[in-house]
Amino acid sequence: MKSQDIRSKFLSFFEEKKHSIVPSAPMVLKDDPTLMFVNSGMAPFKEYFLGNAQPKNNRITDSQKCLRVSGKHNDLEEVGYDTYHHTLFEMLGNWSFGDYFKKEAIAWAWELLTEVYGIDKDILYVTVFEGSEDADNLPMDTEAYDFWKQHIAEDRILKGDKKDNFWEMGDQGPCGPCSEIHVDIRSAEEKAKVPGKELVNQDHPQVVEIWNLVFMQYNRKANGSLENLPDKHIDTGMGFERLCMVLQGVQSNYDTDVFTPLIREIETITKKKYGKVENVDVAIRVIADHVRAVAFSIADGQLPSNTGAGYVIRRILRRAVRYGFTFLNKKEAFIYRLVDVLSKKMGNAFPELKAQKQLIENVIKEEEQSFLRTLDQGLVLLNRIVEETKNDTVSGEKAFELYDTYGFPIDLTALILNEKGLKLDEKGFDAELQKQKSRSRAASEVSTDDWTILFDDAEEEFIGYDSLEAQVKLTRYRKVVSKKDGEMYQLVFNITPFYPEGGGQVGDKGYLEDTRGDVIYILDTKKENNVIIHFAKNLPKHVEETFKAVVDSKQRYRTECNHTATHLLHQALREVLGTHVEQKGSAVHSKYLRFDFSHFSKLTVEELRDVENFVNARIEGKLPLVEKRNTPKEEAIADGAMSLFGEKYGDTVRSIRFGQSIELCGGTHVKNTADIWHFKITSEGAVAAGIRRIEAITHDAVKDFYFENNRTYFEIKDLLNNAKEPVKAIQSLQEENTNLKKQIEALLKDKAKNIKGELKNELQDINGIQFLAKKLDLDAGGLKDVAFELGSQFDNLFLLFGTEQKGKALLSCYISKELVASKELNAGQVVRELGKYIQGGGGGQPFFATAGGKNPDGIEEALEKAKSYLN
Ligand code: ATP
Ligand code: MG
Repeated sequence: MKSQDIRSKFLSFFEEKKHSIVPSAPMVLKDDPTLMFVNSGMAPFKEYFLGNAQPKNNRITDSQKCLRVSGKHNDLEEVGYDTYHHTLFEMLGNWSFGDYFKKEAIAWAWELLTEVYGIDKDILYVTVFEGSEDADNLPMDTEAYDFWKQHIAEDRILKGDKKDNFWEMGDQGPCGPCSEIHVDIRSAEEKAKVPGKELVNQDHPQVVEIWNLVFMQYNRKANGSLENLPDKHIDTGMGFERLCMVLQGVQSNYDTDVFTPLIREIETITKKKYGKVENVDVAIRVIADHVRAVAFSIADGQLPSNTGAGYVIRRILRRAVRYGFTFLNKKEAFIYRLVDVLSKKMGNAFPELKAQKQLIENVIKEEEQSFLRTLDQGLVLLNRIVEETKNDTVSGEKAFELYDTYGFPIDLTALILNEKGLKLDEKGFDAELQKQKSRSRAASEVSTDDWTILFDDAEEEFIGYDSLEAQVKLTRYRKVVSKKDGEMYQLVFNITPFYPEGGGQVGDKGYLEDTRGDVIYILDTKKENNVIIHFAKNLPKHVEETFKAVVDSKQRYRTECNHTATHLLHQALREVLGTHVEQKGSAVHSKYLRFDFSHFSKLTVEELRDVENFVNARIEGKLPLVEKRNTPKEEAIADGAMSLFGEKYGDTVRSIRFGQSIELCGGTHVKNTADIWHFKITSEGAVAAGIRRIEAITHDAVKDFYFENNRTYFEIKDLLNNAKEPVKAIQSLQEENTNLKKQIEALLKDKAKNIKGELKNELQDINGIQFLAKKLDLDAGGLKDVAFELGSQFDNLFLLFGTEQKGKALLSCYISKELVASKELNAGQVVRELGKYIQGGGGGQPFFATAGGKNPDGIEEALEKAKSYLN
């Protein structure tokens, strides 16, 4: 059975059981502070499990893109070495939100596997939770056991402990026992040797878990205790690639048609064969796996970057480059060439891949090239470290610096050192790594209390599209303590005018006032798992009162100007540059806006002007806001509304229209484009290959901008003695400056020549060595020139020069190579030792070395000591 059919059979099976099929949610999470990426099928439905939202149908089925590369689920280091863990994989799931429970979940899983897919019952094992005797003191899941008994022989039902058979969403929240389904796809001979049940959950590559049925029946509170959930839920997850392995009768996920086209392509490009040499195979698997993770992330709008989720993606791609570099001998970019095959294979199920193929290729290619350059530089640095290493071991600190500052991978360092017959102090490296980890862990430590519930059944409603003020009640609150923000309170109201950060727009600020006139400031507003949370430094004194909640209207208004301008900018770019332009991120603040979009080249001055004019024409056109709330998504799209990849939309959406600009958008906007006054682009540049960024301002920020620029202009003019044409005046100053520099250089050269002549006469013969220690009025380059010039005329020279430059001291020592060899002299050692007189240090080669220091008064003393080296 082909993989496409396996996927659609799953979905249609549950559709027949009255489940709604929903598309995979984007992989990058936006309003969940505990998670960067979707790492299991349940993550996008968290708000339903937490009771923050109600699904339209309480039975859902889907195939969800998951990424397990950080946090609690991190399989990255396994990937490539085993044949059944991926970074990105699809999780097939069926969901019940307070509807059916264990009985149906078990019966249907069994029916699907054995009857629809026709899997032989004799290769299946299931597990149930055995209970726990720890603080939770949970009973064995006899319910699940009894249901399984109706389908499968009892000796195939195994009992498992908390680690394997109790599932928790996080430190807090819904959890419960689970039942896993395992397959044993070994040969009959192998099975005769060791029974399958002994290999379940033992990391055997052919006895693997394929499906996990989670029975959510508890809620874990902040103090660790469990309470029963009022509504019980089913959450199941089956690894799609593992299922394909079973149904296609192969022994590895990589031998299924999900991966073989990629592997064939890698073979063609690298001229290596899969299945012959172990480390080549590992590298090929790593690359086939990682290109999927990276491509899907970029398609979901997450580009590689230096922080957060972007950094995780960058590290995945770099891991792939490293394996290609080391084991497939690929020293140039090639991974981007796999995107074509990938989008052909997966583009039907995931149209975002097809639509953005070109962009994905560009971004991956650029990342590969830049990392290959890093590797090159790293090799140079590593060689230097090797040269400087006295014994046969490179210190952990040095290796860590190379890893941390230059991004040079440690395993490559180890490999290269090994080739050179050197050792790496791995313990030292690990210690440095641990130090860094505990530093960042301490910085990001957060402790979150349970919610204190004041009114349980209250609806939490956002009214901030229509009002900036409301009488509100606090429905719940909790305290959160973090290193970054200290103690903070999170407040939830029954209704709120505060806009929570989202869709690029910042969260509202404002205040709460009680009837006594006591005020609490709201510092920020965010949405977490569909709940609007207001952040305050303090808790109101009388929490059960009614408060007047007031949004900072000035900040909101400026932000709205920037948000509407962002829509107009988006439209302008598509108009001026072409419809290939797609939004790739935006940040709408009160002071400025930022807009990232796909486009292949720098915008010309004319294009920027056209874009600005286009937006300003719409502002002058006084276009009114036309807002439609709760429109079915299909209807809005048919109206011409633009939707974004990587954005999670509900069944009904809100559309925002100004003239011909229509977007699906949850943000807040001005009532009329005329409110914006004026729009001005302040910068344009590149963020990544094929992605440009524009920053712009609106409203009175534009006035300030012109005012500031004007002031600078007059200051410049003033400095130029009120020149009529300041640009020309500056050009002529620059010219003059260049000429002067040239003259100085020539003069200094002359001076050096003269000095050299004089110095030659000052050389002293001490025990057959031509010696001179002297302070000169030359810069570092000058000292070096003189030393090397003299050096070319003598083979028994010992020179120590000192100079004072801009209040700093400098020493440089030259010793003829012959002397270095015959007398065991070392210039590096000389400057290191004499450096202490100038309160500094330095080093270099045995025949030439320099030291810098902050005490010019010590130069003379250092020069006096030089002679002592000749005794
Ligand atoms: P394993 O013990 O094999 O790592 P798990 O216990 O981490 O699996 P779950 O978290 O229960 O797995 O996920 C549900 C299903 O998703 C698993 O039964 C498996 O089929 C699949 N799965 C889990 N992790 C991966 C992965 N890294 N790559 C591919 N499939 C996976
Ligand atoms: Mg796992």
